Amino acid sequence: MQNIYVTKPFLPPLEEYYPYLEKIWASGVLTNGGQFHQELENALCKYLGVQHLSLFSNGTIALITALQALEITGEVITTPYSFVATAHSLLWNNIKPVFIDIDPDTLNLDPSKIEAAITPETTAIMPVHCYGNPCDVDAIDAIAKKHDLKVIYDAAHAFGVRCHCGSLLKHGDLSILSFHATKVFNTFEGGAIISPDATTKQRIDQLKNFGFVDEVTVTTAGINGKMSEINAAFGLVQLNHVDYAIAERKEIDSFYREKLSGIEGITFLDAAGSSTQNYSYFPILVNENFPLSRDGLYQQLKDKDIYARRYFYPLISQFPMYSNLPSANIENLPNATKAAEQVLCLPIYPGLTKIDQELICDLILDING
Ligand SMILES: *Cc1c(COP(=O)(O)O)cnc(C)c1O
Repeated sequence: MQNIYVTKPFLPPLEEYYPYLEKIWASGVLTNGGQFHQELENALCKYLGVQHLSLFSNGTIALITALQALEITGEVITTPYSFVATAHSLLWNNIKPVFIDIDPDTLNLDPSKIEAAITPETTAIMPVHCYGNPCDVDAIDAIAKKHDLKVIYDAAHAFGVRCHCGSLLKHGDLSILSFHATKVFNTFEGGAIISPDATTKQRIDQLKNFGFVDEVTVTTAGINGKMSEINAAFGLVQLNHVDYAIAERKEIDSFYREKLSGIEGITFLDAAGSSTQNYSYFPILVNENFPLSRDGLYQQLKDKDIYARRYFYPLISQFPMYSNLPSANIENLPNATKAAEQVLCLPIYPGLTKIDQELICDLILDING
């Protein structure tokens, strides 16, 4: 039997890529805002329902650049329950992360904990739409406005998610996407920043191109964060299939919810109210009423070549470059600490067969006895 991983990159038929590659070879334009770069920016704006989007080489450089674009300094309030790149982007900007706890129901940053963490040094909030489930954007936006803070959403999980006011990506000052191979929509490696206006987008486009304003003018110490024509072309092909990919994920999500509901000691996150979902992950929480610990279940699945993942364990705040911060104290983060001990993300991706879905559920059901 083949190993089953938590995700598997979605790849459309190879033939669909060839015409794009031929055009790249014919034009000789490999990067620096070529035809496919432009086409993908336009196509993504349309698909996502946003007006201004800048492509990047990856999501982490996009996060780092977003902080630069808004000239964020001092302290930024963020969640410990995320992929490590969220907080790393702060350290790369010499910003001090201040971790606050998460809401136990959504596993997103708890807005009611923000105000107590604000100091004179605080300049911004960096929440994460964890697993693609929207943060309480209205509460976060209101607090930010009241205290004159910027909000940068790490929306790496939230491709295509729509909320009560259209695209979820329109909230805050900037939102960041990742198009890494493991994400719902991928360009092999890639990312993007969604801007509210053309001026901000222009500034971000300069920052991702060394700070060049024109051929002879460099106004800021920008970085090289450009997406290549190959990655942009792969994105255009992927985009034609993304609705199918999300629909496949939705079927698996429904299957798991049906088969695994009512198991003593296992809970899921609620399907997110009025917003759409992209089914990017299927986290289950294994509590003390289940016969095995989360790690026990993780190991039993692994012994059967099923590689579920403990996203997000350890908490970012537990890594050595963060663990000495006062806000990293586990007493400050009880809900995040508990979630990190209980969560297990089950395999979910287009092409995961019904047989494998059954196998995974049966293994869990059998343990329950
Ligand atoms: C994937 C991910 C990133 C990093 O994106 P890359 O494109 O891999 O650099 C950042 N934040 C979160 C929450 C992610 O899941």
